[in-house]
Amino acid sequence: MKPTVIDHIGIAVRSIDSALKFWEGGLGITCVGVEEVAEQKVKTAFLPINDTEVELLEPTADDGPVAKFIEKKGEGIHHLAIRVDNLEKALAELKEQGVPMIDEKPRRGAGGAMIAFIHPSASGGVLIELSQRD
Ligand code: ZN
Repeated sequence: MKPTVIDHIGIAVRSIDSALKFWEGGLGITCVGVEEVAEQKVKTAFLPINDTEVELLEPTADDGPVAKFIEKKGEGIHHLAIRVDNLEKALAELKEQGVPMIDEKPRRGAGGAMIAFIHPSASGGVLIELSQRD
C-alpha cells in the first residue's frame, strides 16, 4: 500500500453554517462546496488547504453515523482520511494482515472518491478512511 497524502480530516458538527463562521470567517479557509451523501445521512462541506481538506460533516438524520457520533462524543474530529493510489490493492493487503475493516469493498464517498473505512479497533480508536481519487 502507498499512502500519498492526508486526504482530509472529517469533523463532526451540528451545523455547517455555524461551523463556517470559524473555519471560513475566522481561519480564512474557503468552503468550495457542500454535498449531501444520502446513504451516510450526512451533509459534507469541503474546505481545501493545498492538497488536504477539512471536511465538515453535519448529520441529516438522527439515526445516521455522524448523528450517533455527536450524541456519544459531542462535536469534534470524526475521522482521518489517507489517500492511496490503489484502494482495491490496499484493501486486499489489509485483509491479508487481518486488519479489522468496516468496509471490505470500496464504495462511493463524497466528492466522487472511492473510499473504505478501517475499524477504529485497529488504530487505537481513530476511525481511518482510505480514499482513492482519480
Ligand atoms: Zn471522509
